[in-house]
Amino acid sequence: MKAIVIGAGIAGLTAVHTLRKAGVDVVCFERDDVPGGRVISTKRDGFIFDVGAQFFFKNYKTCYSLADELGIGQERCRWAFRVGFPDNGGWRAMVATTNPLEIMQNLPELMHFLKGKSIPFKAQVQAAGVVPTIARRYFDLDFIDFERSLDLDNESFADFVLRLGGKELLEYAFQSIASTMTLEQPEKMSAAYGLGLLVNMIGGLSTYRHGIGTITERLAERNAASIQYNTKVDKIVIENGKVKGVEIKGALVEADIVIPAITATRLLKMAAGLPDTIRKPLEMVTYSACCHVIFALPGALLPEGWYALSTPRMLNSLCSGYTNNAVKSPFYAPSKCTQISCFTYDHHAHELNEKPDEEVKRALVKDLQRFMPHMPEEPLFTEIRRWKEAVCLAPVGMLSAMARMKRQNYQDVKGLFLAGEYLNMPSVESAAASGQAAAQAALRARS
Ligand SMILES: Cc1cc2nc3c(=O)[nH]c(=O)nc-3n(C[C@H](O)[C@H](O)[C@H](O)COP(=O)(O)OP(=O)(O)OC[C@H]3O[C@@H](n4cnc5c(N)ncnc54)[C@H](O)[C@@H]3O)c2cc1C
Repeated sequence: MKAIVIGAGIAGLTAVHTLRKAGVDVVCFERDDVPGGRVISTKRDGFIFDVGAQFFFKNYKTCYSLADELGIGQERCRWAFRVGFPDNGGWRAMVATTNPLEIMQNLPELMHFLKGKSIPFKAQVQAAGVVPTIARRYFDLDFIDFERSLDLDNESFADFVLRLGGKELLEYAFQSIASTMTLEQPEKMSAAYGLGLLVNMIGGLSTYRHGIGTITERLAERNAASIQYNTKVDKIVIENGKVKGVEIKGALVEADIVIPAITATRLLKMAAGLPDTIRKPLEMVTYSACCHVIFALPGALLPEGWYALSTPRMLNSLCSGYTNNAVKSPFYAPSKCTQISCFTYDHHAHELNEKPDEEVKRALVKDLQRFMPHMPEEPLFTEIRRWKEAVCLAPVGMLSAMARMKRQNYQDVKGLFLAGEYLNMPSVESAAASGQAAAQAALRARS
């Protein structure tokens, strides 16, 4: 059996890894000159930058077991998710957690937060309408086993919060949480996805000591013999309901198995012969954009121990939020230095993605100075990463369509096994699990 994997993001790398362990002859074609896709860390002058994905949630089982297998389980590090919300011209912080011990440890801070103006009393009352549903559905909101949450897939997250809570709860709390996690507005994603992110987020965040990209770097190292970089696949060749191979620069590379581990939009452009049963669900998939700007700074900017600033849309910021990545581990910034990520979102991200670096930098310095006046005019340096497709949004109906497709039509094209985060509730975990599942399905089809 000859297999081709398209893309060396975490989905593609996991598929390659699974196939190689089963002794399959596999080659992975990656367009870029480095592995990782959207799970990638870069290094410069003693700083580590997570330029794509930022953190893993507690239940990323596939990722954690891969990390253990690759010998980096011990490098995992967690940090307190202390977020500052605007309060009467200033900021007030709380630790977002459901861990009873952490709640007790931070109780005075939480009480102080709730007495402030960050989340108005009206919104706190409205929360009473939403929290019981979240608590009741907690175990249904799984990133991989998400079928039990599909009744929440028929309205947007914003409509859900408005229906059970109210406008204040949406505008002061849930909008900024949803936007920070997805880099888009809560109107653009289903309630199932918004709630899935919310319940998983409060279980805690983690990364790897030397960057989140450690996992994709190690996967790529382990499977180096099968990965061909700087090789863009132009077309997936499908004939008579069966995959024939892929086309690269006009030449056909034949294979019995093709696993495209790329975004749904790219796949649609590349595979003209897909049947409606697969094409139509793929057409529902949408992505946010992000012009991710990271400032390396000579000193602290946020108060000690704060990870993030939440900037609700009523503030008209270019960003859904800012994070202080130096709290992740001591290796993320040299001593006394810090780094601040600016997550531009919505139409701002699309606009900034088209502007030159210097203009982007100036716009973000100005935006940050509105909230942190001591932000210096000139950072040590600035790292900019433009993502035209950042986070898959799971708009209303997408998860139901994917669940149906996976159940009934996943193998409608013989030899074609899709992978990518859009097949599950979108996340790094979903991408990794989809790569593993695609490889396992290919192995089952062989035997
Ligand atoms: C700024 C940002 C923050 C995020 N934060 C988080 C977070 O904190 N937690 C979380 O869980 N998720 C987060 N995400 C989302 C997460 O990164 C993705 O869901 C996940 O990495 C998708 O993995 P993938 O392998 O499916 O796709 P990708 O990582 O996009 O991999 C696809 C690969 O295919 C390659 N490719 C594309 N076309 C071709 C072609 N024609 N030929 C050959 N190769 C091709 C690409 O170069 C790429 O390497 C974030 C994303 C961004 C951008």
